[in-house]
Amino acid sequence: MKKIVLALALLILIAAGLFKLSTSRNYQAFGELIGHVDTEQKIIALTFDDGPLPEATNQIVDFLAAENIPATFFLTGKDIAAHPQAAKKIVQAGHQIGNHSYSHQRMVSMGYDSVASEIDKTSQLIRNLGYNDEIVFRPPYGKKLFILPYYLYQKNITSVTWNIEPESYPEIAQDSDAIAQHVIDKVRPGSIILLHVMFKSREPSMAAVPKIVQTLKAQGYTFVTVNELLKAR
Ligand SMILES: [Zn+2]
Repeated sequence: MKKIVLALALLILIAAGLFKLSTSRNYQAFGELIGHVDTEQKIIALTFDDGPLPEATNQIVDFLAAENIPATFFLTGKDIAAHPQAAKKIVQAGHQIGNHSYSHQRMVSMGYDSVASEIDKTSQLIRNLGYNDEIVFRPPYGKKLFILPYYLYQKNITSVTWNIEPESYPEIAQDSDAIAQHVIDKVRPGSIILLHVMFKSREPSMAAVPKIVQTLKAQGYTFVTVNELLKAR
């Protein structure tokens, strides 16, 4: 009986450890995972996940053009295929495009061939848009365990997460002022900020962007792409 209890306790510990590893923002089993960059320069990266969807793409790309700042868009292959004009608009405006998988499923328990297809199909779609810069990867829901990091490591693809995520706090997520304030309070040189602005349900995030950009510019921060941030290491 004692042995069974011990074995169960051990299993629970291992499961908890694996879960922690699968959700970690700055560590993975193979290869590099970047959640922020250590730098003394006041440079930061705005990153927008999912999509592209046409209406929100127009809105955010026009805003970034008016502010003359770049951002990084982690797009899914299925949405690039469904809305190629929106994806092209982001590329032509000079923003960075990252690979956010094809179908936006959790990739923790996916086999090697599915992982390869999710990543390769999406990178090919990004290249077809005329995008020539390095393509980094961000896992859907930030989830990964062994096969996904191993594939990325083999392919020499850098994984990028974030270190500021205001939408993860339910008391903040629906209030654009609170979202902006959270980012302004947490930001440090080298921060990577995660926001979802593509979906109608994330209008509070879209509305927070001008306040974030204008306040942090006034504090002397410069917005750069993730690839530019990576070069500052
Ligand atoms: Zn996503």
